Amino acid sequence: MIKVYDKTEEIWIENEIKNLSFSKKVALVFPNEYKVASSNLGFHILIKNLSLIGQKPVRFFFDKDINDFISYDTNRKIRDFEYIFISISFENDVENIWNYFNKTQLKNNNIIVGGSAVTLSPFLFMDFATNIAVGDSEEYFKNFTSVEDLEFINSAYVKEFFAEKYKLEKKSRFNFLEKKIDSKLLYEFKSNLNSKLIEFNNKFNKTSDTKTPAYSIFITKKSAFTNYFLIEISRGCPFSCSFCTMKNLYNRYRLFDLDEILEKLSIGYSKTKNFGLISAATPPIKYIREIRKNFPDATLHFSSLRVDSIDEEFLEIVSTLNLKTLTIAPETALEEIRFKIGKRFSNSQIFNFIQNAAKNGIFKFKFYFILGLKALNPIFDLAQCELAIMEEAKSIIEFIDQAQSLIFERYNRIPFFSISINSLIPKPLTFLRDYNFINLNLYKKVKEFMRKEIYKRKNIAIEFISYKEAKKEYLYSWNFVENFNLNNNLYM
Ligand code: SF4
Repeated sequence: MIKVYDKTEEIWIENEIKNLSFSKKVALVFPNEYKVASSNLGFHILIKNLSLIGQKPVRFFFDKDINDFISYDTNRKIRDFEYIFISISFENDVENIWNYFNKTQLKNNNIIVGGSAVTLSPFLFMDFATNIAVGDSEEYFKNFTSVEDLEFINSAYVKEFFAEKYKLEKKSRFNFLEKKIDSKLLYEFKSNLNSKLIEFNNKFNKTSDTKTPAYSIFITKKSAFTNYFLIEISRGCPFSCSFCTMKNLYNRYRLFDLDEILEKLSIGYSKTKNFGLISAATPPIKYIREIRKNFPDATLHFSSLRVDSIDEEFLEIVSTLNLKTLTIAPETALEEIRFKIGKRFSNSQIFNFIQNAAKNGIFKFKFYFILGLKALNPIFDLAQCELAIMEEAKSIIEFIDQAQSLIFERYNRIPFFSISINSLIPKPLTFLRDYNFINLNLYKKVKEFMRKEIYKRKNIAIEFISYKEAKKEYLYSWNFVENFNLNNNLYM
């Protein structure tokens, strides 16, 4: 279906790509909404790389309203394309693809799937993909001039690699979902799958040594970052937090070349003054200084900042950047747990940081917390788990109170805090993989407690990430869900 859509809202950054006609044989599918796709640099890199070999892909996005894929570039269907590239960043989006391929008669299409979800959970894709790509997509396009010659990993091989023994047998899966599984069996299963994933990544995960960052190929008002030109400052992360998959996703940490970044920014600057600097780690101060010097009237947006990598000079520069909100991810308000998970900074450091930010005129902060970093340790029984999770929740409330009053005492102004609460998703390839997933009743209880407490306070917004989506992500990442056989009851 082609949607009525004002094309002028999409601004292509490079004329070389803008002026290319769309390919007759290559489609690029993003199994989430246009808004998400247009702010995803993995999607943009693929458009660029395919365009460079003369195949500007026809783009398809998932439209929740009609529960189907749509394209703004064509009236044709996905299955009409000989090559179907799928860029998938989030495991949960696999459901949209499964549904589509379940009801669609294919025509011997080549289906190539890549993206972070594939690197982390390749087994989710082997039933419908002909090939998969793991790691940095630039590597797959190096030295190739035609789509026919591109080489990926045959999914039959992936299937063989993750043979049946890396999936819990049906009865155990059922027992697991019913919370009756033998913990020893679950532990063994998780260790096996984890080792197999490490082996798989060692073998196939390609790491590019490119000095050129990925950047937006088009910008649009309809993106999650409205009219922002996004650019990678670095890829991967120099840290190794115990709940995070970043280390395995990108292998080593790479900082992109400053001159390349400035050159690409000047291309973006001809179309917009809004820059989104994408990096898991805080960008080096030298980079910020140079970007500021070269584009003094640009509005900069950062991914979250690590408190322990920012000094006063950084904050002074940040205060001149028209930033509306500073984002910090303390993950937990319990210091000993924060240190244990690899974020080695104290609450006092965070309080100093936000006070310095307030001194520089910033009074809006976003905080990310994860519930369960202490409580979901498998050494705890249910009663101990409940005590620990309430301790985590109470400490977040105390943290917020303390942070707000410190700023109020000094500046006579209550800062605005936006609090985002996730539950821990103990995923493969992380140190916390053997932790439990929070049960629904406990999650509801802690959520209600926190909501009530926040309601009594001023200038705080709190959002809880959907339990159902978090549980799905957990189940998918451990290969607990039967491909093409979804059952919504599993997620509760
Ligand atoms: S949580 Fe952030 S800082 Fe820690 S490893 Fe992941 S991306 Fe890096």
